[in-house]
Amino acid sequence: MKHGIRQLFIPGPTNVPDRVRRAMNVPMEDQRSPDLPDLTLGLFRDLKRAFRNDGGRVFMFPSSGTGSWEAAIQNTLAPGDRVLMARFGQFSHLWVEMAQRLGLDVTAIDVEWGKGVPLDAYEQAIGADHGHEIRAVFVTHNETATGVTSDIAGVRKLLDAHSHPALLFVDGVSSIASIDFRQDEWGVDLAVAGSQKGFMLPAGLSFLSVSEKALAASRDNRPKLPRSYFLFADQIAMNDQGYFPYTPPTQFFHGLRASLDMLFEEGLDNVFARHHRLAEGIRRGVRGLGLDLVAAGPEWYSDTVSAIFVPEGVDANQVLKIAYERYATSFGGGLARLNGRVFRIGHLGDLNEVMCLGALAAAEISLADAGAKITPGAGVAAAHDWYRKANAGADARL
Ligand code: PLP
Repeated sequence: MKHGIRQLFIPGPTNVPDRVRRAMNVPMEDQRSPDLPDLTLGLFRDLKRAFRNDGGRVFMFPSSGTGSWEAAIQNTLAPGDRVLMARFGQFSHLWVEMAQRLGLDVTAIDVEWGKGVPLDAYEQAIGADHGHEIRAVFVTHNETATGVTSDIAGVRKLLDAHSHPALLFVDGVSSIASIDFRQDEWGVDLAVAGSQKGFMLPAGLSFLSVSEKALAASRDNRPKLPRSYFLFADQIAMNDQGYFPYTPPTQFFHGLRASLDMLFEEGLDNVFARHHRLAEGIRRGVRGLGLDLVAAGPEWYSDTVSAIFVPEGVDANQVLKIAYERYATSFGGGLARLNGRVFRIGHLGDLNEVMCLGALAAAEISLADAGAKITPGAGVAAAHDWYRKANAGADARL
């Protein structure tokens, strides 16, 4: 039996703040009560703020993020529709696989893991599509398997440069509410998020924020993929009144209210700045230990998760096992082709500097136990240095 707090440094589920946990601790309630809309209508409104979506609307589904991946596709696309996607990690790979399973005609561009959306290749495909056969372009904003963030504004720019009408789908499961995301400004038509990452809730609720254009596509006369549970029209008819076409997870809604309040009290831009500051400390710590990130360069660095190569001859799974069993700390593992070579530190959600220093300390001690030749304390020292510098301006406010 381990004493003390188990440390959770996986890239979701993330730590649920006490305030959110307490907010969820309410008796079961009537999902058709006259006052439920007092809660839910405010959630729909404020979720739009979190996505920075001024038009359109947000759906909430009782599913993990994968459900909203599916809802986005089914509601707007038809069997055989041509779509442009890129694969650069396990999650972008799985979205491609889903699109194929659902019967879309997928052009999937394979990119070296460590890089993100291939703007040049997208530009070529879009530029060559004079007949506008590509109905949708997909991007995984933050590839959680590799710790890589992609340039969504860049994709919007190239679509606009070619006056291409494709819908823009974005997976923001490990970015939205943690790092900068601007649905309206970037012209994102369907943006997917999950409750268990930046929203600091348990897994089990997904959010799909859609533009007016996506809503129009869901209503037009083109045949669509089969859809039932996730049918937008059913959701809209009930959501407009503050209700749902199924039994909704009402406790979640109380947690979501608390989580949105926390995000807005801090201010979204401050939330993003905090994630950047914490992530940079982790990256400096990794460098201080002489280790490399999977992300191939600073332009790809993710402020929510770092995927880290272990030194040659060290088994990353052994590092994970030691961290978990000996030091009560969970890190993320290397997924698919990165298995055994990589461990991941999730640094998103309800976190602060000292927690991140703890993550680095746990990584150092577990790496050393697994046989890595590292200098104990070197990672923590580098991060410590950065956090002091980054917070220097805050001294005046103490
Ligand atoms: N997309 C990304 C980028 C993810 O990180 C994840 C999960 O970690 C998913 C999609 C799938 O989400 P879920 O596990 O909530 O279904």
